[in-house]
Amino acid sequence: MRCVKGRVLSGYVQQIYLNPHFVGICMRSRPARSMILPRMVVTGPGVIEQIPAIIAELDIPERGLIVCDKNTFEIAGKQVMEYLEAGSHPMQKIEISGANIEELERVESYSDSIDFLVGLGGGRPIDLAKQAGFNNDIPFISIPTAASHDGFGSARASIREAGRKTSMQAVPPMAVVADTTIISKAPKRLLAAGVGDIISNQTAVLDWRLEGQKADYSEYSAALSEMAAQLVESGIQKVASGNEEGVRLVVKALISSGVAMSIAGTSRPASGGEHKFSHWLDANCDSPALHGEQCGLGSIATMHLHGGDWEKIRDTLKAVNAPITSKDLGIDDEIILSAFLNAKKIRPERITILDKAPQDQIEKAVLATGIIG
Ligand SMILES: [Zn+2]
Repeated sequence: MRCVKGRVLSGYVQQIYLNPHFVGICMRSRPARSMILPRMVVTGPGVIEQIPAIIAELDIPERGLIVCDKNTFEIAGKQVMEYLEAGSHPMQKIEISGANIEELERVESYSDSIDFLVGLGGGRPIDLAKQAGFNNDIPFISIPTAASHDGFGSARASIREAGRKTSMQAVPPMAVVADTTIISKAPKRLLAAGVGDIISNQTAVLDWRLEGQKADYSEYSAALSEMAAQLVESGIQKVASGNEEGVRLVVKALISSGVAMSIAGTSRPASGGEHKFSHWLDANCDSPALHGEQCGLGSIATMHLHGGDWEKIRDTLKAVNAPITSKDLGIDDEIILSAFLNAKKIRPERITILDKAPQDQIEKAVLATGIIG
């Protein structure tokens, strides 16, 4: 059985169902209030060596395809390929150059000759493997080489179509294998962006609790999402030191964030006004910053609008050298202000503080927090 193509997000959640008799995930009518979660999450130093045991435990069939880029193949791809081939898994490899529809089609062209996919990278290879796996009913394993956002454990894939980033609905990976020794070696900027993405959970949850939402609020996933952000906030000195323990803290928080979204069946626990701000920049800015950097900075202003402790968010970001001003982000003040004011045009069905607050208050918050000016 083949699943139909994933659809571009427009407030539409695809109905999905995990068939207990087969490791593949198929699109069917999903039982009400069901959740799709990864079956196995393995994190810690050196866990990449456990790949053959993980594949055996999941009872995944033989032939695999590693989706990576030049850089991530050098970092961990060779190793993964050797481990799997030694475990009698004939492997193929595809090096991609971006997460766009053309590259997605290239990955999907392997569908008939493979039984599972491995997405190996910071974001793009994982997005492509995730979406190709979903579209073609093939199990997918996520191996992040950086912890810059929560996509490596989530159900969403960010794919460019006609030059614009679109968020597509897929399913979470069957397994996440996050080797913190490998992730510790990624540039510090990427980990700081991961802190930004996770810290923004706090404002996402506040937005989700605003009046006038559709009835999709989940107390449990909101609590999990907030807790992930708070754990990183309270352990930020460990994260700033860049040691393995700090990296593991961020990785686990980002995985929890993905799980919170899977429990809720929506990205709402980890995506509020600060994400709409970031999406607006991605769509309108020639050279946007990293997703987590934009969301973290956005969160400073939206927390101010909520009347919460925005200084704590700013100081947490500052501790890991994440951007806290437009200058740090490398984007002009006018564009940053436009992004805050126009964020409500992105996914207007998703009500956030940037949809509710009057323009003058938004301007005031962006100035008062020192983001611009
Ligand atoms: Zn995010």
